[in-house]
Amino acid sequence: MTNPILPGATLGMLGSGQLGRMFAIAARRLGYRVHVLSPDTETPTGQVADVEVRADYLDLERVAEFAGNVSVVSFEFENVPAETTEICQKYCPVRPAGSVLFTSQNRKREKTFLRDAGLPVTPFTSVGSQVELIAALQKQGLPAVLKTADWGYDGKGQVVIRTIEDAGNAWSALNVPQAILESFIDFECELSVVAARGLDGQFVSYGPIGNSHCHHILDISVCPAAIPLSVATEAIEITRAVLEKLDVVGVMCVEFFLTKSGKLLINETAPRPHNSGHLTIDAHITCQFEQQVRAICGLPLGSSELRSPSAMANLLGDVWEAGEPNWIAALSYSNLKLHLYGKQEARLGRKMGHLTVLGKTVEQAEQTARAARAALKSR
Ligand code: AMP
Repeated sequence: MTNPILPGATLGMLGSGQLGRMFAIAARRLGYRVHVLSPDTETPTGQVADVEVRADYLDLERVAEFAGNVSVVSFEFENVPAETTEICQKYCPVRPAGSVLFTSQNRKREKTFLRDAGLPVTPFTSVGSQVELIAALQKQGLPAVLKTADWGYDGKGQVVIRTIEDAGNAWSALNVPQAILESFIDFECELSVVAARGLDGQFVSYGPIGNSHCHHILDISVCPAAIPLSVATEAIEITRAVLEKLDVVGVMCVEFFLTKSGKLLINETAPRPHNSGHLTIDAHITCQFEQQVRAICGLPLGSSELRSPSAMANLLGDVWEAGEPNWIAALSYSNLKLHLYGKQEARLGRKMGHLTVLGKTVEQAEQTARAARAALKSR
């Protein structure tokens, strides 16, 4: 067994957004040092890391130097180029491995891998031209969702197609060489399971977490999700299979649609902590970011036991639209935790922070989270 990377060592993070920031906070609490590399400066992660390296992900000389100064490298978003992780791997372990990133960062590779592994995914067809799109629509049926194969997140790079006549416009709107056509799922609800897998195969999971989206961006997450126990167990077992088949060392989120007939379908996976798992910071014994630190360092994973029903509400730039949010009003809710990511500019739709509320019930927690978020806009 590889030697564990112990507190005091330096951990490397590719990507410098809020996920890297919360990783860095967890790492520093455990006594690690953190170096971060991204093309930006004054970033959410850079503000709490020991060293912030500003370099392009394809500046392989700088990337090599970065990897040479740390004991392990992880990443906080999927679109890190494969060349970057390949170079890092020459100097230290990359966890999860670059191969996991490669599979997850492209919807066609991801969905094909999962389907071939016998796991339930949204029905899809790979398309590379308008002609192929029309053929796929005829085979698969309407409505359908056309998604870019690469660089898709938070609903970006996807178009709903309701009639066959929409195909031409949808293909031009996406303007990419490769896409996938998914059946539109009239789901009962959306769920996610965030899970961690250690170097020795130890597995822990959170949830299922219930998620509501607004304009394709996560809006509210609640834990536990209001679903039958049998569905919860099945979602966790599918997630376990995903992590095992991909041989993930680290944290991964699996997002599901629960259909009206009670079937679980994987919508997508992310080989890193996930927005829906932010409530684990306050609601669980060990949060998803600490599990990421523990897993990539080869340490035992912590308990993922839920302390209390909880709800998380995202704070997008929209909350700043009419001026500085009314922090006092929100913080007057004593069972609320406020998390801000240190971003300088509040743009519409930009994730600026989140708040988590612990309650006696999920309903109560969600109600308070919504009320507190609304109070941020009060004058
Ligand atoms: P994605 O970026 O693929 O996770 O999509 C963002 C959101 O769009 C999802 O969380 C769903 O709310 C919605 N969505 C995506 N794909 C589908 C689909 N095939 N059927 C219905 N809704 C979808």
